Amino acid sequence: MPDSGNSRGISDSRYDILFEPVQIGPVTARNRFYQVPHCNGLGHVFPKAEAAMRGVKAEGGWGVVSTQEVDIHPSTDVSPHIEGRLWDEKDMHRLALTVDAVHEHNSLAAIEITHNGHEATNRHSRLPLMAVGEMIPVTGLDPVQAYKMTREDIANYRRWHRRAAIRARDIGFDIVYVYAAHSLSLLSHFLSRKFNNRTDEYGGSLENRTRLLREVLDDTRDVVGDRCGIALRLAVREFLGQDSLSEDEGRDVVEMLADLPDIWDVNISDWMYDSKSSRFANEGDQESYIAFVKQVTGKPVVGVGRFTSPETMVDQVRRGVLDMIGAARPSIADPFLPEKIRQGRLEDIRECIGCNICVSGDMTMSPIRCTQNPTMGEEYRKNWHPEQIAPKSSEDSILVIGAGPAGLEAAMSLGKRGYRVVLAETSRHAGGRVDRESRLPGLSEWKRVADYRLGQIQRMENVEMYFESRLDKQQVLELADELKYRHILCATGSTWHAGGIGRTHRTPIEIDSSVTRLTPDQIMDGQDVSGSVLIFDDDHYYMGGVIAEKLASSGCQVTLVTPEANVSAWTKNTLEQTFIEKRLLDLGVWLMEKHALVSLKEQEAIIQHVVSQEQRSLLTHNLILVTARQPDHQLYFDLIDDPEAMQERDVRSVTRIGDCLAPSTIAAAVYAGHLYARDFNESMDIDEVPYRREYTEI
Ligand code: ADP
Ligand code: SF4
Repeated sequence: MPDSGNSRGISDSRYDILFEPVQIGPVTARNRFYQVPHCNGLGHVFPKAEAAMRGVKAEGGWGVVSTQEVDIHPSTDVSPHIEGRLWDEKDMHRLALTVDAVHEHNSLAAIEITHNGHEATNRHSRLPLMAVGEMIPVTGLDPVQAYKMTREDIANYRRWHRRAAIRARDIGFDIVYVYAAHSLSLLSHFLSRKFNNRTDEYGGSLENRTRLLREVLDDTRDVVGDRCGIALRLAVREFLGQDSLSEDEGRDVVEMLADLPDIWDVNISDWMYDSKSSRFANEGDQESYIAFVKQVTGKPVVGVGRFTSPETMVDQVRRGVLDMIGAARPSIADPFLPEKIRQGRLEDIRECIGCNICVSGDMTMSPIRCTQNPTMGEEYRKNWHPEQIAPKSSEDSILVIGAGPAGLEAAMSLGKRGYRVVLAETSRHAGGRVDRESRLPGLSEWKRVADYRLGQIQRMENVEMYFESRLDKQQVLELADELKYRHILCATGSTWHAGGIGRTHRTPIEIDSSVTRLTPDQIMDGQDVSGSVLIFDDDHYYMGGVIAEKLASSGCQVTLVTPEANVSAWTKNTLEQTFIEKRLLDLGVWLMEKHALVSLKEQEAIIQHVVSQEQRSLLTHNLILVTARQPDHQLYFDLIDDPEAMQERDVRSVTRIGDCLAPSTIAAAVYAGHLYARDFNESMDIDEVPYRREYTEI
């Protein structure tokens, strides 16, 4: 199979330091690249998919590859979230698949065993929740409470943790975690004044609150320390409001335990702070919180910061911030990031854009997906490899219309297969929606979706690009006469509805011409807006909120009306909702949740509460409708409605993909482009399941 890279391939000695081995207790990582634990919605339900995904990371050069959290007992059942499970020996063979896949490429396999205390749900096991104290769970709203662990419960927990560590070692894991981060695990709850109000030897002073963590570290070392490295994952700072673990306390804990683990994996808590999207944090944003750790311990330190630049990575190591470059998202967007740095193929790196769509898989209890890497999560199911794609099986050529995420990905991947591709785009720039959306506040990194693909395409002789050419049916036919392509792919995207059709309204809203009526498309095209603005957001992802932010920042008086209970409600799945709401409130945006726009006449908008139906009126100069999108599929229908014209030119297929077929996320458009390229010329049976399934043993 051809390799995707056709770039320089000259390794750069400046990055040699990243490829030095690192000793982690009794084991040695072959380099400084460390894939820290990350959820993925595969886990114990799809163990072959999990193993294949982790194996690809190891193949791509990550010296350490870890599992996500792995629950150690039915009293820490996090169903329906799909994580790892090591409740008894019957779970071992599933995890062994991952160990084997990682070892095949000489990387170290790590496992993050955990008990989540009151943060478990036990919806499946139906055991009562046990916790550091009597309390009501924090993140879930289940109407349950946890009981306070007795000394006997603590002893049981320690025994389960020891037993899980032994099983992990016997499976073949090289590194065993002690997990005290994200405010998720029991150990972090014992540490935190917020949750720990015990009056026994495990509560009160920080030394007492650290006792269980120290005991579990000692236990783990006792049972597996001769064979496995012991990693301590600690949130050195919490942002959980009152009584969070403070900067000083975090430092004190590290000082107390300095040389107990074999490696420190440090971050901040909770997850939404640890995995901030690029809208709210830049590369390396955790440095100010975690930089002290290396001054306190002689053991290696790994940390994260959505690192994609080798310069930044080298800088982190040279300045003594980190010994190992930790990554979840950069390793998802490009499992071959380390190898590409090693081989000097920097232009081939698919940089993470920080959109957190990967997180949404876990939050929606579904297999992981990634905007930049369409093969993520499909390594087993579809046998997709991020760097390999089958060579062409015919001399067919393809006209791709539209250079948005779908068209660019299709053209690039077809090009990698060796097909002759013509890519035509109306605009002067490639990128479609990512080009336009990346100009909105905080979304500049999204441009990487286009930049990576364009960069690859520009180095391919078999892919031609035509910009500033908006094709109509006639031109497509003329091009077919001239260029003799056999297949047409419409990736022409979509346009925001101007009539307000969406979830609430299935027919256009009654709106007169007394206000300036706009959609996100016009805002992205640079339309000036001043005065009062009413945004009706019936979309619930980022667009309504980001337009409110843009206009409020430029001095408009913005009211955002949404039928949901929270602004940008779906972004809770990308860990952004709280940050978005805070930013809008700080900018003085008036949020009217649980309301829908009913009509707008003579600058008076009628707004209705979605439950009580109570109406109120608001005056506004401008109305921005963020509701549904309309596929731009006219060209597709013009073409398929004229089969004779196609036959005359021997055009064998006309296909539509991405937003032009069914508007969705950028990730879905990239996936659609990739799927088209992979399946091109393959005879697909649509009556069959289009991927390999994993069946529950019976
Ligand atoms: P997707 O997310 O499905 O890739 P986008 O809206 O991001 O969709 O991209 C669609 C791209 O197609 C846009 O850049 C648009 O300018 C381009 N386009 C739409 N219609 C035509 C056409 N008739 N000829 C050439 N390009 C087109
Ligand atoms: Fe990065 Fe987005 Fe991919 Fe997650 S989904 S790895 S944030 S590009």
